Amino acid sequence: MKIVLATYNKHKLLEIKSLIGNSDIELVCLDDIGFNEEIVEDGKSFIENALIKAETIYEKYKIPTLADDSGICIDALGGKPGIYSARFAGENTNSQDKNKIIIEMLEGKLNRNAHYTCALAYVTENEKFIIEKYCHGTIIEKETGINGFGYDPIFYLESYGKTLGEITLQEKNKISHRGKAFKEFKKYIEI
Ligand code: IMP
Repeated sequence: MKIVLATYNKHKLLEIKSLIGNSDIELVCLDDIGFNEEIVEDGKSFIENALIKAETIYEKYKIPTLADDSGICIDALGGKPGIYSARFAGENTNSQDKNKIIIEMLEGKLNRNAHYTCALAYVTENEKFIIEKYCHGTIIEKETGINGFGYDPIFYLESYGKTLGEITLQEKNKISHRGKAFKEFKKYIEI
């Protein structure tokens, strides 16, 4: 079964392919179907943005479409950057610089709690499946580890005594927001 994954993010695609595993699903991305426009993500929540992406692609191609929207929510920043995680410091700021900005914003704050959120929306002719899952941790003061992407080197997991940048993709998939959401999606699709 062919499913379009509504993303251009190669790291995400890699993670998601490893999450979907060896099921009967052929996952293709936006490049593969020749879609190269920008989808305006103007929803107010992760779920709304995931739905916007999945519905836009489904309406145009009529191929079952899966979209995810994710980000990091930091308690001491009132849940920010949240749905703006990818762009809150400007489109062209790299991950290391974004991590530095976050560390600076948290300087002197006692509450370092944060969570990643992942919303999934799957849209077909007559179904809409939506799920949202979380991964909880704390923000540390120095990037540690080279695995993962984005905020992973500053996202510390109490239970591992390591950041998400220090664990393998296989370990991350077991506990991450995206891993948990895709586990539910797999259950749904395999019924
Ligand atoms: P999206 O592509 O609109 O879902 O944006 C997600 C953004 O949230 C990414 O660009 C990262 O900045 C951040 N993010 C989401 N999930 C992760 C993760 O697993 N690790 C690190 N950063 C993440």
